Amino acid sequence: MVTVFQEPITAEEIKAKVRDLGADLVGIADGEVLNQHPPDPANPKRPSDITDHDAGRVIVIAKRLTAGTTRLTRWDERHKYYNDELVLNALEMLSLELVLWLEDRGYPALIVPPTHVDPRDYNGDPAASLGPVLSLEHAAVEAGLGTLGLNQMLLTPEFGPRVQLTAVLSSVPVDCDARIAESLCRGPACGRCLSACPGDVIGHWDRDWEACDTYRSPHGFNALADHIGRIIDEPDIQKKKAMLRSEDQFYLWQSILRGAGVVTGCRRCQDVCPVGDDYPALADALDAIPEDNDDKRARLAAMLADEAKGVLPASYLAARRWIGAPAGPEDEGA
Ligand code: SF4
Ligand code: SF4
Repeated sequence: MVTVFQEPITAEEIKAKVRDLGADLVGIADGEVLNQHPPDPANPKRPSDITDHDAGRVIVIAKRLTAGTTRLTRWDERHKYYNDELVLNALEMLSLELVLWLEDRGYPALIVPPTHVDPRDYNGDPAASLGPVLSLEHAAVEAGLGTLGLNQMLLTPEFGPRVQLTAVLSSVPVDCDARIAESLCRGPACGRCLSACPGDVIGHWDRDWEACDTYRSPHGFNALADHIGRIIDEPDIQKKKAMLRSEDQFYLWQSILRGAGVVTGCRRCQDVCPVGDDYPALADALDAIPEDNDDKRARLAAMLADEAKGVLPASYLAARRWIGAPAGPEDEGA
């Protein structure tokens, strides 16, 4: 871009604009740092894979989830799916406004929405978990917005994990934010996310992403492929017709219409996390965890005992740059 067309601009001016547009949190990461530290080096997803020219900065934007829906304790509550989808809509609109504002000042920009997966990763298995083109949780850590928790969700000081994210790429030459060094997560001594998880998919600084997808995208592509497959396989024509009019089909249709239940779904782990300035106002509805059981408590105790001995799983070691140093063990210069 020819610099004569560019107005001088600062990081603070960008952040003020983003907040004016309705965002709750905003941070700026160095695109080159993200290029050098892909979360999965075997399958790197870098800003430079999206654009050669306009990924110098990654502006990560967060909007909080509504407290009223967080206080609904069922994981499969459609009010949550719809409300979260509306938060996502608002994020998309405000990030588009930011792109246009930056471009009016001479800085080409583009949006990386959280729902955009790389179609090149699809291998014909609808159950396989597909990652986004850029991990916004990791970008948010690089932009100083928070750290990753026990199940690798983003935790922020203000809203814990109760946020949605989007990002704008632009090579606008402004200062970047620093990562938060200390882990915000209280680790297995807390473990409330694991205790509450309806699919029991949370491990030791890890998560079974494929199993999680059946909850966080309950009416997504895999559910659609399964449903259509069952209809095709049903030999009885009357039953086949009934399946076309079933509740399953109705939810799939509604979800295709709005994305609710596809790009939004279970967030029980986010709801019960005690991290965040917002949690005290939520606690009366969320402190009790009916999904907890002896087996989950025993696994958390075993994790805690391992950490007390300085034994950390490979999942932590691979992600410690973004998790930060948990209480106890030394961080070896991530
Ligand atoms: S989104 Fe739901 S299923 Fe996935 S880890 Fe969180 S609580 Fe468990
Ligand atoms: S619920 Fe507890 S263990 Fe889970 S991410 Fe939050 S602080 Fe960490």
